[in-house]
Amino acid sequence: MEQMQQAQQEAKEVSVTPTQTVTPEPTEDPSDPVVQKKNLIAAIEKAVEDNNVKTMTADLRYAAEDGQIGTYEKEDVAAVLLHLKKNQDDYQAFVEKLQDESVTVGEEDGVPYLLLTDSNLRKMTGTEEPVETVEAEIVTPTPTPEGNGKKVAIDAGHQAHGNSEQEPIGPGASQTKAKVASGTTGRTTGVTEYQLNLDVSLKLRDELEARGYEVYMIRETNDVDISNAERAQLAAESGADILVRIHANGSDNTSVAGALTMAPSTANPYLSQELIAECQKLSQCIITTFCASTGANNQGVYQTDEMSGLNWCSIPATIVEMGYMTNPDEDTRMQTAEYQQQMVTGIADGIDQYFAS
Ligand SMILES: [Zn+2]
Repeated sequence: MEQMQQAQQEAKEVSVTPTQTVTPEPTEDPSDPVVQKKNLIAAIEKAVEDNNVKTMTADLRYAAEDGQIGTYEKEDVAAVLLHLKKNQDDYQAFVEKLQDESVTVGEEDGVPYLLLTDSNLRKMTGTEEPVETVEAEIVTPTPTPEGNGKKVAIDAGHQAHGNSEQEPIGPGASQTKAKVASGTTGRTTGVTEYQLNLDVSLKLRDELEARGYEVYMIRETNDVDISNAERAQLAAESGADILVRIHANGSDNTSVAGALTMAPSTANPYLSQELIAECQKLSQCIITTFCASTGANNQGVYQTDEMSGLNWCSIPATIVEMGYMTNPDEDTRMQTAEYQQQMVTGIADGIDQYFAS
């Protein structure tokens, strides 16, 4: 319904008659002082919102009577920031003042700042808060992590319902496999593998984002139908640097416990030797740190050329088999928040190490 209205709206907008002139989009040239001023005011507004005294101090200067450029005292900026947070009217008035043409853009070492005419920031904003109150109330902003420029695709293995339709196990392969197998189930807990995989994957996403990675999730709910080949292709299309596939293992022997990762062998007919080597390196990094973090039995890197989700990959990929859901102890442990965090830390450490080496 909404989409239809939007389409009609768009249709109206494009029916411009030839006599009408279309205003050109404003340029966003970062060296244009008008753009710089707009950006600086936005930065000040964000600094007030985030309690960021440092940014606000850096972005505001004043022109003294002798023509010198002065910086405001951090204590004053902190008091002003606190005052503006509490007094909406003064805040609005201040933002308006910044927009006044008497406020210009200056530059030091290529970094622009707003140049005000008033050396008394407290007075100009109506701030009366004493310094002591301010120190108690201004909380240091939690720094948003700088992006590290790397993107990780996470595939939480399986989905609510398996899909037994067949697909080739690799590009050009005559051998086929089910699009998505249904996965295993916790022998003791009764929890499904697709649920455990998703729970851990969501925590891994948060951990990686906190470490500065960009994350692409193949799925964030159980109610999807995406084949293993499609998952591999989606990961590559997302622009991710690597794909980490999260799974849990099962065995007829309930005493078997431990973790392993899977990588293609050098005999893999679908992947280049270069990509195979990267998959193996990624798998080795993750299994080592995973077992170091969790204390799980290290079953090493299992080489296989039968996995559609690896064979269809055009970026380095690994399958992490976190533990055996058929082993009562491991099944139970994998449902605890503490162990899940250890697993997540272990996988993230391995990813760090992969990119660092
Ligand atoms: Zn699985």
